[in-house]
Amino acid sequence: MREIGHWVDGKEFLGSSGDTAPVTDPATGRVTGRVSMADAADGRVAIASAKAAFPAWRDLSLTKRTQIVFRFRELLDQRRPELAKLITAEHGKVLSDALGEISRGQEVVEFACGMPHLLKGAMTENASTSVDVCSMRQPLGPVGIISPFNFPAMVPLWFFPIAIAAGNTVVLKPSEKDPSAALWLAELWAEAGLPAGVFTVLQGGKTAVDELLTNPGIKAVSFVGSTPIAQYVYATASAHGKRVQALGGAKNHMLVLPDADLDATADAAVNAGFGSAGERCMAVSVVVAVGDVADRLVPKIAERAAAIRVGDGTRSCDMGPLVTAQHRDKVAGYIDSGERNGASVVLDGRHVRPDGAAGGFWLGPTLLDHVTPEMKVYTDEIFGPVLSVVRAGSYDEAMTLINTNPYGNGACVFTRDGGAARRFQNEVEAGMVGVNVPVPVPMAYYSFGGWKNSLFGDTHAHGTEGVHFFTRGKVVTSRWPEPARSGLDLGFPENS
Ligand code: NAD
Repeated sequence: MREIGHWVDGKEFLGSSGDTAPVTDPATGRVTGRVSMADAADGRVAIASAKAAFPAWRDLSLTKRTQIVFRFRELLDQRRPELAKLITAEHGKVLSDALGEISRGQEVVEFACGMPHLLKGAMTENASTSVDVCSMRQPLGPVGIISPFNFPAMVPLWFFPIAIAAGNTVVLKPSEKDPSAALWLAELWAEAGLPAGVFTVLQGGKTAVDELLTNPGIKAVSFVGSTPIAQYVYATASAHGKRVQALGGAKNHMLVLPDADLDATADAAVNAGFGSAGERCMAVSVVVAVGDVADRLVPKIAERAAAIRVGDGTRSCDMGPLVTAQHRDKVAGYIDSGERNGASVVLDGRHVRPDGAAGGFWLGPTLLDHVTPEMKVYTDEIFGPVLSVVRAGSYDEAMTLINTNPYGNGACVFTRDGGAARRFQNEVEAGMVGVNVPVPVPMAYYSFGGWKNSLFGDTHAHGTEGVHFFTRGKVVTSRWPEPARSGLDLGFPENS
């Protein structure tokens, strides 16, 4: 049985709480390790280490800081198969998908390698006679990152490369369901030459999170997870004077107009609906089919989804298990509820025959047609391989449905009509929009974030918004040579 500890002061640390939680391989159901669960005292030790490391890291030249980020990028690129294996073993997603999440995370490291350029300020000479003004952005101090189970590498990588390159120190609190990726990343940083204390991993659950939200040593919190916890994190950390960005849950709609290329649309719906077993915040969970298009589209989706090979993520299958037995049962419960409430179960994942051990947390792709907006399968974030089809009479009816949904992470439209697509991108209330693109995850140099209940706070992740989040502005006004004595003048200074 592996012991999975915290990472503090450049080494693994089991903590003093004595509390641990089981870590399971979702493809077998077997417990493979036990992760340390921090108490408040462990949290304070981790934060104190990040605080102690901050002054020297902030003062290290940008050139030297960036060289370490470059080395981290090289090591990550060379050793990504190792990390992918760890992700598959604890999350369950298939290896190719785990490699995909690492690549998207690596793109943020590559973006952070440009930090010297991103941190450049502005300078105005002679704003007033002999007076110059310059602006700069400075790091905040120790920052907390709290991440969900579904992207154990990519989501932390959205934040920490930028935070670290900008001169902050980081305490990462990963999900207790798949904690090993964070420790692996910490070891990689150490190998890249990052000084001890700049990157810390604090394992645990609510107690660890609460310490990050309330401890005055932490200056900012980036959170990603479900909406109720995102709301709690936003309210608590901001009440404690911290800068917060809290990304929440999602219910992403795919609007299909009757003129869409239905083969390409069906491919996209299946890939975006069932990739990573639907455990993606950018998964398409609702297809809104306008006019009579559903009658032609649903059979095409069903045919493709039925061909998905479900099984152990190490065996070249298309789709792995769900993360825990409890989550699998919850998702299956939504299928039961949809069926009871009148949805047609076109493809039923409850009877899947996986290529994997009997104890794995299996659920196959499920397609529900004739879903209506009051059904729980429509209102709730299911976070599993369940794709619902809602039929709408017109574009306007479909858009009203999408825009009245409380979530606004992503949305996409499939059509051959450029005017309709342009209208959709203008009107839709979502932070990330796809036009004939089903999972419109922005590149690292743009920013990732939703609207409405999908994000609390006003800054999205990565891109220049990420740089802004992890730095604060300062404007310096200076006069040289020193002025001759001008006597007392209590008036508001005017420029001359
Ligand atoms: P979660 O909210 O259960 O957990 C997220 C983090 O919060 C974990 O580190 C967890 O340990 C911690 N946590 C859990 N309960 C807590 C509590 N009561 N108090 C304080 N901290 C607590 O989410 P999850 O199940 O790990 O991840 C899935 C969710 O994340 C989905 O809702 C998904 O949509 C969302 N998500 C959103 C995005 C996005 O970009 N918007 C990206 C990925 C995942």
